[in-house]
Amino acid sequence: MQKSKSDIHELLKSHFGYDGFRLNQQAIIESIMSGQDTLAIMPTGGGKSICYQLPALALDGVTVVISPLISLMQDQVTGLSENGIEAVYLNSSLNFDERKQAQEKLESGQAKIVYMAPEGVLNPNQVSFLRELDVALFAIDEAHCVSQWGHEFRQDYRRLFELREVFPKVPFLALTATADEKTRDDICAQLRLNKPNIFISSFDRANIRYSIQERESEIVQLEQFIRANHQDQCGIVYCLSRKKVEKVATELQRLGFNAVPYHAGLPKRTRERNQRRFDVEENLIVVATIAFGMGIDRPDVRFVAHLDLPKSIEGYYQETGRAGRDGEASQAWMIYGLADVVKLSQMLEQTDADPKYKKHAREKLNQMLGLCESLTCRRHYLLDYFGEDSPKECGNCDACLEPQDQWDATKEGQMLFSAIYRTGQSFGAGHVIDVLRGSKSAKIKERRHDQLSVYGIGQSLSKTDWNRIIRQCLTLGYIRITDWDYRSLGLTELCRPILRGEDTLMLKKMKSSMKAINRKKAPSTVHLDHGEDDLFARLRALRLELAKEKGIPPYMIFSDKSLHDMCAIKPENSDQMLMVHGVGQSKLDAYGSKFLDEIKQGASS
Ligand code: ADP
Ligand code: ZN
Repeated sequence: MQKSKSDIHELLKSHFGYDGFRLNQQAIIESIMSGQDTLAIMPTGGGKSICYQLPALALDGVTVVISPLISLMQDQVTGLSENGIEAVYLNSSLNFDERKQAQEKLESGQAKIVYMAPEGVLNPNQVSFLRELDVALFAIDEAHCVSQWGHEFRQDYRRLFELREVFPKVPFLALTATADEKTRDDICAQLRLNKPNIFISSFDRANIRYSIQERESEIVQLEQFIRANHQDQCGIVYCLSRKKVEKVATELQRLGFNAVPYHAGLPKRTRERNQRRFDVEENLIVVATIAFGMGIDRPDVRFVAHLDLPKSIEGYYQETGRAGRDGEASQAWMIYGLADVVKLSQMLEQTDADPKYKKHAREKLNQMLGLCESLTCRRHYLLDYFGEDSPKECGNCDACLEPQDQWDATKEGQMLFSAIYRTGQSFGAGHVIDVLRGSKSAKIKERRHDQLSVYGIGQSLSKTDWNRIIRQCLTLGYIRITDWDYRSLGLTELCRPILRGEDTLMLKKMKSSMKAINRKKAPSTVHLDHGEDDLFARLRALRLELAKEKGIPPYMIFSDKSLHDMCAIKPENSDQMLMVHGVGQSKLDAYGSKFLDEIKQGASS
């Protein structure tokens, strides 16, 4: 039986407590409800789950959700149950009885959603079990795993089209956050989608504020950033190496933060424990390599900090996208410096990969560096990279909030290029800077570099300043690294007009990155006055208590946004409580009275 538009809105409100659809959700849902194959592309945090959870409620029969992550299935099922939706999963973690119980729930119609791993769904026993059920929809999550072009290819995904042959009439919904065209075409082809409706949502994550600073003292900068903006909140700090992950986690603990490390080299038990803590502790900071990634579903991650440069914009966007899935104000903060540029280029050049791959990887890295060095809106740069039009200024990134000036660095450029040239284009940045600053080191004397005309001509600038100039000249292509073992610097053709004084060299103004933006609070969608702050804290404490009682993550009870909304609306009865974002009937029944009591107490005190 077909449901009408108002039914869909009704379900969104009554089960999820939301007032409206986001992005293309509604169009995607309508496409599925009309029986069409559908491909939905939405950024991380865009709200893909509702695109199949809601049709599952509205359609007769069972919705089969194929997901690569067994570890997430339990969370999904718990989350749905909090919204009064019965779902089950069938995977290798279940014992005989549990499996039987889940199957019975599906057979009796008690559960309308089943999560399965790709290998499980193709198992002949499962296929015959599904045939007995009335399958309404196959939803294939992380659908880019079907494509070799994607970065997370899975062999089992390749076979999913076989389901088509068994269930020719059941529509397929493929969902992914990977936007490039090759992957998109591949998904349609591999899954044999039949004239699919394709929906590509905007990649803009308006609630995320982007800022990128120069590295000065990374722990000090990180500490300042967290204390000023994210005290007692949940965040992820990404580092390139395992060693650094452990070092930074220890430093943060020493500074009094609730921080844990996460990387693939840790014992499985420790990793699982830390992952678990991440799910339930409200103020946890996870310091991690990119091994901590897929499977982060927590909606209230308030910041993602990068202490090392990602290798590509895709990586950066995916990682930063883990912040603020709940739509609340969040930050993506990164620091970088000359060392990153050199280290990443070196790693790239010294791999045995074939030249075509290297060229591709080098382009990706250059685009990433371009983002860092950009003087204009970061969001515009990012969206442009993904082929999307957007305003020239977003008003919510460091470049828009604190525009950086350029300065004429022609004279300094000439000094630097001359120093590189006169020392034979065979020394690294450290030595070149020593020459410019007139260092008395033994190495300088030995090489008689104190005899050169360029010796000491750059004394007025600090080492850090020269490092910045070198970094910018490297990314802008004026100089390059000529020997990867010694990281020696050499000149490129671009230097010539500068040295001759025929062209000017414009660089980003140097100012300390320990700057005001650190102290500027992230914009909040609601402004709490003092009394509301107190109420928010009490509601948060109540949420934590209930979460502990039930053994589920606090965010599954209510999101931060719901609590903020309660502070603003101050509901006095159930009807008013239902107006709060994220409060549907099921949550009202389960928690409404407790939260209403807490709000009432605040009002009378
Ligand atoms: P992803 O696209 O990354 O899978 P999710 O489905 O996990 O995103 O959704 C991210 C968050 O957004 C969740 O907390 C979800 O409840 C919330 N959300 C989804 N749709 C809406 C909506 N229409 N209104 C408000 N919040 C929504
Ligand atoms: Zn901007």
